[in-house]
Amino acid sequence: MEHLAFHDPLTNLPNRLLLLDRLAQAFLQAGRHGKGVAVLFIDLDRFKVVNDSLGHHAGDLVLTEVADRLRRGTRASDTVARLGGDEFVVVCPDVDSRQDVARLADELQKSIALPILIGEHIASVDASIGIAFGVGDDDPESLLRNADQAMYLAKDHGRARYEVFDNELRGRVAQTLDTQMSLRSAVDLGQIETWYQPIVDLRNQTVVATEALARWRRPERGLVLPGDFIAIAEETGLIKQIGSTVLNQACRAAAALDGAMAVSVNVSPRQFARDDFGAVVKQALSISGLPPERLWLELTESAMIEAIGSAAKMFHELRDIGVRLAIDDFGTGYSSLSHLRAFDIDLLKVDITFVRDIETSAHDRAVVEGVIRLADSLKLEVVAEGIETTGQLDLLLKMGCRFGQGYLFSRPSPDVSPLVHLEGFLAPAARAR
Ligand code: C2E
Ligand code: MG
Ligand code: MG
Repeated sequence: MEHLAFHDPLTNLPNRLLLLDRLAQAFLQAGRHGKGVAVLFIDLDRFKVVNDSLGHHAGDLVLTEVADRLRRGTRASDTVARLGGDEFVVVCPDVDSRQDVARLADELQKSIALPILIGEHIASVDASIGIAFGVGDDDPESLLRNADQAMYLAKDHGRARYEVFDNELRGRVAQTLDTQMSLRSAVDLGQIETWYQPIVDLRNQTVVATEALARWRRPERGLVLPGDFIAIAEETGLIKQIGSTVLNQACRAAAALDGAMAVSVNVSPRQFARDDFGAVVKQALSISGLPPERLWLELTESAMIEAIGSAAKMFHELRDIGVRLAIDDFGTGYSSLSHLRAFDIDLLKVDITFVRDIETSAHDRAVVEGVIRLADSLKLEVVAEGIETTGQLDLLLKMGCRFGQGYLFSRPSPDVSPLVHLEGFLAPAARAR
């Protein structure tokens, strides 16, 4: 009973409880010997693929094999524990140098990456490792948390590598926490603004729509770009309030314009996955009086994949409302052609990364041309993002691309209808009423 309480039944490794106890002992010992303690937080990459493709039994075999490799690759005085799932932790008491630990991380990584034979299949996983160092008066929980943070950084930096939790990372973690806290009140304090970037019909050089882009006017920091807060907003769930705020501001601004100009609003997967998203859209339309066909919603490919079951329902609901649907950053996610067919989409937005080098890279040119052909045959419109030069514009026109947006025409601006550079002239996108 006692053994069970402190060990993981699958691998027979110490569990979290025993790990924390060993870690506390390691601190005491290190304090006495004037040495350091190192924690290696190990998370397997691509483990889910093994589970999904070869089954849970194969997944279990991979975990036991990794446990064995970790045990064989460490010293008897080290502790190897399994926290659950595909997470393992190695504790090294009595550490003399950082180099020793880095070398250990390297060796463990290499041994985990060796193929694992399962029946007639070969499974292969990698390890992302976060390392944290502690001395006598640190506490076990926070050292573990630091190693975990470093592991996330390793994943961010492309997986199958290790990162060390140091002062820089400490600073970054503190900064993220600070951003989270301030972002919580940003919506209530009216700090979320919507900026706009025109979407141009390339053939007759008219503005057909404008993309709504969130901006955070953060006191004492100035204007914060989405790249610095959308991901945090998504993690914390604040994206729902921020997304609704932008949606409402955008609908109101577009409704105040003459003519048929549409507004295109970005929708994050988390908003889209909510059952009430349809109601949120309806409300924004009815409050602003904007006709539904003048609202475009930009979804990411991953939003479609993630919410595959409920997505169909939400797609139909939005279709019924009558808004137009676009796929944003097309080509960067898990483009699945079958999804394109299954879901009723109006537009594809070709990601900026393909447009950027279109003049110099035959490969990128082929990708963009391919997307345009594909869209044609599926009767979808294409918007090319990030057009900065007339050279890019000419190529896109030759390929038959209908719409585009980018700095060549206009940078994002707080004005829903900014001046747009068209054929060398400055023309107002649309007149305000
Ligand atoms: P996106 O939807 O792909 O938006 C286009 C981004 O490309 C914008 O960056 C825009 O300023 C930038 N861009 C446009 N033309 C050019 C160009 O010619 N050259 C270059 N280098 N960049 C150009 P921004 O405003 O920083 O937004 C970044 C991303 O943040 C957006 O990418 C979108 O995914 C996300 N985002 C912005 N607003 C919202 C929002 O309200 N909700 C959600 N969920 N995401 C948002
Ligand atoms: Mg977008
Ligand atoms: Mg985009």
